[in-house]
Parts: sequence; structure tokens; C-alpha cells
Amino acid sequence: RQSEKASGSYAFYDVEMNRLIAGRLYLESGIRRALQNDEFFLLYQPKVDIHSGAVIGAEALIRWAHPKDGIISPIEFIGVAEETNLILQIDAWVLDAACAQAKRWQDEGVLAFPIAVNVSAKEFTSSLPERIEHALRKHQISPAWLELEITESMLMQNADGVVRIMNEITAQGVKLALDDFGTGFSSLSYLKKFPIDTLKIDRSFIQGIPDDVDDCAIASAIISMAKQMKHRVIAEGVENREQFSFLQKMGCDEIQGYLFSRPLDVDAFAQLIAKKLSLPTHIS
Ligand code: C2E
Ligand code: MG
Ligand code: MG
Ligand code: MG
Repeated sequence: RQSEKASGSYAFYDVEMNRLIAGRLYLESGIRRALQNDEFFLLYQPKVDIHSGAVIGAEALIRWAHPKDGIISPIEFIGVAEETNLILQIDAWVLDAACAQAKRWQDEGVLAFPIAVNVSAKEFTSSLPERIEHALRKHQISPAWLELEITESMLMQNADGVVRIMNEITAQGVKLALDDFGTGFSSLSYLKKFPIDTLKIDRSFIQGIPDDVDDCAIASAIISMAKQMKHRVIAEGVENREQFSFLQKMGCDEIQGYLFSRPLDVDAFAQLIAKKLSLPTHIS
């Protein structure tokens, strides 16, 4: 018993140590190999209409099927990827893969809503509109099927330039969401200039609902501000019914989180959509 337990924890410790020590280099060369060997894949997490329960969107979330270390979360490698500029290749891969999947789902009649892709700050350059255009054309999908999630913190760096690029992207017909909203200390005066469709309330403010009065105050303030600015508003990381009811009462439009579904692989996502679509027939 005891030795089993000990060796189990040593194994875990070893893996952690390896990652820490070899850390950056290990990751960096790993990412290069992963790009070559096609080790990345996407999961899709549904976005749900808070009133009807219908799936009205999906966020593509990257995973790394590491040949030795198993499935690696983006939390562990996006940082290094950003420092080394490998993020540009990763995000290009994600955009291409998400558009390819959107096309397949569209052809299969599965998809009736956009797929959202996370865009790193590094990628948000003047060539982004062109790269989007290229991906849409390559996969023959309409811009209405694509949404970009941009984290608020990146917008601080070069806000005027960012606004120009955003305007180009929305003019193409692609939707923009401000991700992790409330964590980036962005100036509210810039919020006025951003041509965004959706504010995404960061999970850290959803966690404490309904007991934490500060979280409740911040979440309701963001919802009310979004509504008055005519933006849609979505809460991420919704895990329980109390959070759901609170957000519904406050007038939040959409939710995303484990309460409804974890991020799913392609087949599981398609099954979930099929189940949802067949619900009305069951009822009648
Ligand atoms: P994010 O864009 O804010 O994505 C939401 C994260 O919250 C995802 O983590 C998702 O799996 C997780 N999540 C969703 N619902 C719940 C919930 O109810 N409870 C909890 N505890 N967590 C929930 P994930 O997939 O690990 O991604 C982490 C972050 O990595 C993302 O945060 C995003 O910033 C970044 N990321 C993911 N995929 C990509 C990508 O393709 N490109 C880039 N540049 N960044 C990505
Ligand atoms: Mg996101
Ligand atoms: Mg987010
Ligand atoms: Mg987040």
C-alpha cells in the first residue's frame, strides 16, 4: 500500500520537476515538434442562451496531445509560446483548424452559430484582417461563422492601432468579443471606441456568486454596462445553478461553463447539438 502510494507521488514529483527544470527549452522544442507533427487539437465548449438553453456558439480551446506527457493544457504552454513568438504559428494553426471544422459542421448541417477563436496579443497586428480573409476564403466559410476572443489586457499596449484593426475585422463581418473582461484594467474610455459585439465576464468574478458581495456587484455592474452599451454579455466559468439564476436575474445573455458542458471533442460536441435539436420532437 504504502510503497505504491509513495512511488505514485514520486512519479508525479518527477514529472513536475522535469517540467520546471527543463521548462522553457523543453516546451519550446516540444512546441516546434508539435507544430510539425500535428500534435495540437481543438476542443469546443458550447455557449448557451441563458433563456432558451439553446447552444448559440462554441469556443475553440486548444489542447496538446504530447507523446510523453499526455494532454497538456494551454495554461502550461501559451506563455512560453508567446515569449518565443511560436504563438503566431499556433494561432495560425488554430484559425485554420477552426475554420476547417466550421466548414465540416456547416456541410453536415450541425452548425448554426459562429465558432470563437482566442487571439493572442502578439497576433493582433495589421496583417490579421488579411490572414482571416485568407482562412475564410480557403475554407469557403462566411465571416458570420467566425468570432474572435481578444483579452482585454492586450488592448492596453497600443489601443489606437488595435481599434483600427478591430474596425477592419468587424467590417469583414467577423464578430469580436472582449475576453476575461474585468481583469485587464483597461481604461473604460477605450471600451467606448472598441467595435466589439460581446463582453465576456471573467470567471474570477463568477466564482464567488452568490455569496461574495463584491463578485456579485462586479458581475451585475458589467452586465448592466454591457446592456447600456448595446453589447451582448456572456459569463464564463458558470458551474452551478446559483450562479446561473443570479446571472439570469441580472439580464446576462449567455453562459459558458461546466454547468452546461465542459469543452468537448468534435464527436461529443456534435452529439450534444444533435440531442438539443431533437428535444422539441421529444416534447411534442
Ligand atoms: P479563456 O479564453 O478565458 O477560456 C476559458 C477557460 O476556462 C478554458 O480553459 C475553459 O476550459 C475553462 N472553463 C470553461 N468553463 C469552466 C468552468 O465552468 N469552470 C472552470 N474552472 N473552468 C472553465 P482552457 O481551455 O484551459 O484555456 C485557458 C486559456 O488558454 C483560455 O482562457 C485562453 O486564454 C487560452 N487559450 C485556449 N485556447 C487558445 C488558443 O487556441 N489560442 C490562444 N492564443 N489562447 C488559447
Ligand atoms: Mg476565450
Ligand atoms: Mg475567457
Ligand atoms: Mg478566462
